[in-house]
Amino acid sequence: MQCDICGRESKLVDAIIEGSMVSVCNICAKYGQVITLEKPKIKEEKFVKVKSKSIQKNPEVIEVIVQDYADKIKNAREKLNLKQKELANSIAERESTIQNIESGHLKPSIETAKKIEQFLKIKLIEEYKEEKKLSNINFRDEKLTIGDLLKVKNE
Ligand SMILES: [Zn+2]
Repeated sequence: MQCDICGRESKLVDAIIEGSMVSVCNICAKYGQVITLEKPKIKEEKFVKVKSKSIQKNPEVIEVIVQDYADKIKNAREKLNLKQKELANSIAERESTIQNIESGHLKPSIETAKKIEQFLKIKLIEEYKEEKKLSNINFRDEKLTIGDLLKVKNE
């Protein structure tokens, strides 16, 4: 490669000398303005697409044993002047089961709770209705602008 100004064989740089762009050697480059061409930074275009997920649930009824089941059962049973064993026999459960339930050590199953509810005429089960849940994650497009992609430093 030959310098446009002096004709010397050299490693050339692009420069603007007297208004025109030339390829010159390092020495001649001093007379002009060297153009620094920054390599365009081309970032990978990112398309972040999060598919919207629609989670639809049918209303579900969840049955939960009340927190104070132990006291409720004990109080109701005592009001009826029933012994634990009698209550146990009446609902086809073991006496130890009733003991554990009344002491709060054993949470009755829904099935057992329903039997106790009916027998003692108390409420042991709370129903929770799970409403339809719709969680939408919208599309998110992240597009980089051309300016972000191509940054050319012009001098
Ligand atoms: Zn030169």
